[in-house]
Amino acid sequence: MKQHISKRLLIGGNWKMNGTREASTLMLNDLVTAFEPLTESVDAAVFVPFPYLQHCGNLIRGSGLLLGAQQVSAEANGAFTGQVSAEMLLDMGVKILIIGHSECRQLLAESDELIGEKVAISVSTGLSVMLCVGETWQERQAGHAEAVCRRQISAALKGIHLDHMGAIQIAYEPIWAIGTGRSATPQDASISHASLRKDIEELYDPALAAATRILYGGSVNPANATSLFAQPEIQGALVGGASLKAADFASILRSASQATSSRPN
Ligand code: PEP
Repeated sequence: MKQHISKRLLIGGNWKMNGTREASTLMLNDLVTAFEPLTESVDAAVFVPFPYLQHCGNLIRGSGLLLGAQQVSAEANGAFTGQVSAEMLLDMGVKILIIGHSECRQLLAESDELIGEKVAISVSTGLSVMLCVGETWQERQAGHAEAVCRRQISAALKGIHLDHMGAIQIAYEPIWAIGTGRSATPQDASISHASLRKDIEELYDPALAAATRILYGGSVNPANATSLFAQPEIQGALVGGASLKAADFASILRSASQATSSRPN
């Protein structure tokens, strides 16, 4: 029997290390207005730099936009200079975290195991997680894309109880598509998503796999969002560059809202 795939899309804006307090204010004022008519049909989160969490949280309070952070420690507390715990982020009003972004895997040498520890502490603290996985261009060319994603997702979800899986969304982010202007085609993204869903099915069960939101990330913009969201396997997007312009991010949110409305129940 075909399981029901989650219909409502989620769009995340990953600001990375960009912006100022003033730019964040202008951005979120516009975004709150743009999001108001869409709250019934799409979920949205902004992943802001640590110093602006409180300020941004105040600006989006009551709007339905979720406050997100871009990093978390795998440790609960203690002598870890420069680190920030899941408990602290929860305390600051954060709802959702990016974990396993390829920039952190590559630049900070985060291992699959460390990412798994971060996922575990985050969901047990009560935070939602946007778990990023994805292959390099060389891995794709060698025909290893699916195996790489399977390895990453298995390690990240190791030890995560079924009861916590509702807090986890997957972002399929092929590394070659991030910040390059070269998005995966909707068809290729859809194939990768179906493979990830099969991995979740094998790790858990078909109903949970169907209910897990799998987002696409990698050069999503207002021009390609509609065709990506036309694929039922794609339940939203993690957006980097295009999330830094309120008009572009709002346009992607509107495409997601239309996609949610046109998907069968
Ligand atoms: C990202 O960093 O998660 C991302 C998808 O970036 P971009 O949209 O700029 O490719």
